[in-house]
Amino acid sequence: MCAKDCLGGDDLDEGFYAALVARHSSDGVVISGPDRTALWVNTAFSAQTGYALADIQGKEPGSLLQGPDTDPDAARAIALACSQRREVRLDILNYMRDGTPFWVDLKVTPVYDAAGLHTHFISTMRDISERKALEDQNEEMRHSEAMRQSERQLLALTSEWLYSAKSFEELLMVVRRAMHTLIPEADGALYIYGPQRATLDLVASWGTIPEFPEHILPDDCWALRRGRAYAFGLKPIQFPCDHVHKKDTPYFCLPIIAHGETIGLMHIIFDGFEEDGMMRHMRAEVLSNRWDISLICAEQISLAVANVRLRHELQERSVRDPLTGLWNRRWFGEQATRELTIAEREGTDMSLIAIDVDHFKQFNDQFGHDAGDLVLREVAGLMQTLGNEQVFPCRLGGEEFTLLCTQTPVAPAVEIAETLRKRVAGLQLSAGGAPLPTVTISCGVASFAQDGRTLDLLMKVSDRALYKAKQSGRNRTMTSAALVDDDGA
Ligand code: GH3
Ligand code: MG
Ligand code: MG
Repeated sequence: MCAKDCLGGDDLDEGFYAALVARHSSDGVVISGPDRTALWVNTAFSAQTGYALADIQGKEPGSLLQGPDTDPDAARAIALACSQRREVRLDILNYMRDGTPFWVDLKVTPVYDAAGLHTHFISTMRDISERKALEDQNEEMRHSEAMRQSERQLLALTSEWLYSAKSFEELLMVVRRAMHTLIPEADGALYIYGPQRATLDLVASWGTIPEFPEHILPDDCWALRRGRAYAFGLKPIQFPCDHVHKKDTPYFCLPIIAHGETIGLMHIIFDGFEEDGMMRHMRAEVLSNRWDISLICAEQISLAVANVRLRHELQERSVRDPLTGLWNRRWFGEQATRELTIAEREGTDMSLIAIDVDHFKQFNDQFGHDAGDLVLREVAGLMQTLGNEQVFPCRLGGEEFTLLCTQTPVAPAVEIAETLRKRVAGLQLSAGGAPLPTVTISCGVASFAQDGRTLDLLMKVSDRALYKAKQSGRNRTMTSAALVDDDGA
């Protein structure tokens, strides 16, 4: 039955309809021979691709339409289906004559004649660039949502670790690791104000920059001067901080604030970001995302630093004597017990030096309690500056001091006691402009294991030696050797 018959016998024939479809279809159509070379294309094809029939005739369409980013697997799938004379349909990236890429939904159908002989391929191409762009956009959104999600998880994890940090060292370890993971493309450093607040000292760094300056001056940083976080490289008019050496690299400076006081600075620098070949708008997007993360991190680090400081302060308070800053009785008891265990286990030495200020009651009565306190602080100061890492100065109460000397046998302990005794005797003190009389101390030394193996016993022996020193005229050091006669008596 011919087309004309089907259509009720008017003038239109099948060829006419085919021509109409071919001309007005919005899909590109290519008719190729069995060798896949093009014989004919429709108007939509030329509009889609910019190729006229003359450009493509005799050529395999793929050779013109496929380009650098076309998936080679898709190209292979088409070639295979054609060689097997199978229909194939897939999405493929094609290129227009001017090089513009566009996505097509391509269907290649083999055509057979009445005798079953393969005569042609018909390729129809629907432009799906818009759909692909939407898909890409969705994919990008899914990807960035997944990124945000993982960032949120990392931030939560970081905050948990920051809060469980017991010491400043532990906190720095968490900061290094967390910052490097959260912002992998940046290097960074954490600075904390020194005791005089004249400089900020480098306490941690991460990333690949080998050397951040060890110290920076508060005036060298815009964030510290302006009292708020500063991002360099995000706005057209900006000035780099003096502490930054690379003046064209984007970076952030974020003050670290504990209990309302600025105590430091986190510096995050995107070194090598310029050469990364990242497109400008991408770079701005990444930087702005990193800015948000950095602000959150700076806040969390601030809280964690405050937390560690408070913890440290409370801990110090529980083991330090407030008048002199020396270790208190509680710390002494615990530490001396630990040291004794080590001495016992490893067969090392340990000595205690009991110290008592001579005629201190009298001194207090005569010059007042404040002058007495001054003496206690001065003696404590001398104990702290003995310059021996194995000597731990403690104030057990009142004017009773003890030096806990680890790894120290009796003879060097006596030397330490004597050094201190002489220095105390050499102190020249004054109160209210009037000079105070010379203050002296007496010392009693006891050593593990010759005088005892328990703390209790060692304290008793050192006290007895001290008492003996008092009895013998004060301002002197005695050991258990001086007690032999007493014990024998
Ligand atoms: P001795 O030479 O025998 O040690 O005589 P002493 O007067 O020092 O006698 P003792 O060691 O018993 O005296 C302790 C005095 O130390 C009593 C008290 O007036 C004084 N004291 C104890 N604690 C403090 C303190 O925290 N501040 C001051 N200023 N004085 C204290
Ligand atoms: Mg006393
Ligand atoms: Mg005394």
